[in-house]
Amino acid sequence: MLNDLKRQVCKANKELEAAGVVRFTWGNVSGFDPSMGLFVIKPSGVPYAELQPELMVVMSMEGQKVEGRLNPSVDSDIHRAIYMAWPFTVSAVAHTHSTYAVAFAQAGLPIPPMGTTHADYYGGPIPVTRLMRPDEMDAQYAQHTGNLVVETAQQPERVPAVLLNRHGPFVWGKTPMDAVQNAVVLEEIAKSSYFTKMLNPQYDGMDDALLNCHFERRRTVYGQQQ
Ligand SMILES: [Zn+2]
Repeated sequence: MLNDLKRQVCKANKELEAAGVVRFTWGNVSGFDPSMGLFVIKPSGVPYAELQPELMVVMSMEGQKVEGRLNPSVDSDIHRAIYMAWPFTVSAVAHTHSTYAVAFAQAGLPIPPMGTTHADYYGGPIPVTRLMRPDEMDAQYAQHTGNLVVETAQQPERVPAVLLNRHGPFVWGKTPMDAVQNAVVLEEIAKSSYFTKMLNPQYDGMDDALLNCHFERRRTVYGQQQ
């Protein structure tokens, strides 16, 4: 079942480690098949080097495991909430603990668009969620977390990422590798934004005209880049 998607999701999870945006098993990628209403996600706790396509777990939109002998990632319900919210926009989700993106998330700060690298991929600031309430830290913690990511993303097509406060980034895209690429770009722009702010604390971000120029140009030249 969904063998091609399993291969894509497995490869994209390995790419997280190869690209240096995760350590140990701190990240996960999933891919969604809208025609079947199912998504494929990394199993929980398996090192990236040991991942094989047949170990990927198939999940339903109701949160039930459909296929796979291992448990899904503990973040599975966060991925599910994103697919439930935008089934025609989002076909893959990546979560990392990359250092600079986590730094902004832990500080509770959005990443403002500082320059054209940001604008080529993201058409606005990367938003950060509110803090979770104590009553949300129950048995449905992951589901509540997913809802929080969804409520925070104002423009899921223009800005395919949210920083989960005190935690890290959730990023999406058209394919599993696309979501990973967006996650790698997010880490780069978080890093360069951090240094930009160090060099010039008064600078709060680029003007909308340059932002829109680059964002629209890339979509026109390279297709719908998300
Ligand atoms: Zn995490």
